Amino acid sequence: MKKIEHLGIAVTDLQSSIGVFEKLLNTTCYKMEEVISEGVRTAFFKVGESKIELLEATNPESPIAKFLAKQGGGIHHIAFEVEDIESEMERLTALDFVLIQQSPKDGADNKRIAFLHPKSTNGMLVELCQEKN
Ligand code: ZN
Repeated sequence: MKKIEHLGIAVTDLQSSIGVFEKLLNTTCYKMEEVISEGVRTAFFKVGESKIELLEATNPESPIAKFLAKQGGGIHHIAFEVEDIESEMERLTALDFVLIQQSPKDGADNKRIAFLHPKSTNGMLVELCQEKN
């Protein structure tokens, strides 16, 4: 794992949360992107080496809609940047971590991503991500 690439934060109202985070971080949102397969609309902020990803559900079946219904807003996942996502997935599977998907998929912000199931991380949803080149 190279670094914390971003923290994913679930929000009920993306526009209003962008305003809050722009004031909080004293910077502007540099990218908004919808990931249709995930049912989310995202907004990104840079904080030094790391990023904040705000996530809003675009439909009631979205994992973000379910998270908000169950836990309210807040930190939804931690994303670690990895050099080679396939080999990291293999390494973690061998250590009995449970992957939500068996092969990497396309995520927001030009990344290939995979999630570890929270049941194998004592409750934290963990994303692995690798920059596409
Ligand atoms: Zn993420």
